Amino acid sequence: MVEHALYIVSTPIGNLADITFRAVDILKSVSWVVAEDTRHSRTLFQHYGITTPLSACHAHNEHQMRAKVMQRLREGQSVALISDAGTPLINDPGYPLVVDAHAEGIAVIPVPGACAAIAALSAAGLPVDRFCFEGFLPAKEKARKARLAALQHEVRTLIFYEAPHRLVESLMTMVEQFGEMRLAVLARELTKRYETIRKASLQALLSWVLAQPEQQKGEIVLVISGYEPPSLDTLVLNHQEQSILDVLIDEVSPQQAARILAKLGERSKQEYYRFILNRNAKENKNT
Ligand code: SAM
Repeated sequence: MVEHALYIVSTPIGNLADITFRAVDILKSVSWVVAEDTRHSRTLFQHYGITTPLSACHAHNEHQMRAKVMQRLREGQSVALISDAGTPLINDPGYPLVVDAHAEGIAVIPVPGACAAIAALSAAGLPVDRFCFEGFLPAKEKARKARLAALQHEVRTLIFYEAPHRLVESLMTMVEQFGEMRLAVLARELTKRYETIRKASLQALLSWVLAQPEQQKGEIVLVISGYEPPSLDTLVLNHQEQSILDVLIDEVSPQQAARILAKLGERSKQEYYRFILNRNAKENKNT
């Protein structure tokens, strides 16, 4: 018997062996498993001899299924939620159900395992001390551009899920917004036969993908190096930025000056702010 709870169970992202012993035990022991696509999950169930009743919860019946799952949980039954691949809720359904369970005081227990974002990050060779998960970029060009523009000065490593038919467009927009030289990693078909992990500058990665159309297939994670602010010693304002700063500095606070400069120039508010503080410190030293 398992503890009465809603279990959030991670399943493989390709290689069927990537599931924990505990996950298999839980899936065998709960009274009901709710999956995204039952046909897909049946392969996993057959492989591990899991015979627990399986029902589908997808966009069209999510509301109904949520109510049914909550009813079973209220009756004291245990239910497991799985998705087609990896960790449920990570760009997959389940969030409203977890919120409902919390609201009714029902235990929600994670059974961790594969997640494409974390698998890609762990092998990318880019900083892992701070990272942010951005999921899928918007499909429409204008919105995609705006999202990437907003991330231009993000210093944490960025993780994106990417649809194969949009890979080239996304890499092009990334080159435009992050610059040609920003380091990036394409992690494709992880744990599967054609697994590919390629690290290069954004421009080199784009050229490689264009030259090898087979790299535009399958399941893809893009891991992008965060923005590296230039060190204070190398930060030089251009003539226009310098003139604006000379006017602003006697009129407004350093924070306000930095904010205005960031709207007009190419650097972030934080960089201009650090530059102003550094400049003020140097001036004070010289007086
Ligand atoms: N819940 C999943 C997880 O934990 O990673 C993600 C589900 S999301 C709907 C599907 C996306 O995850 C794919 O389009 C791809 O970007 C990424 N993905 C899933 N499996 C992958 C794999 N084996 N290799 C690379 N990316 C994968």
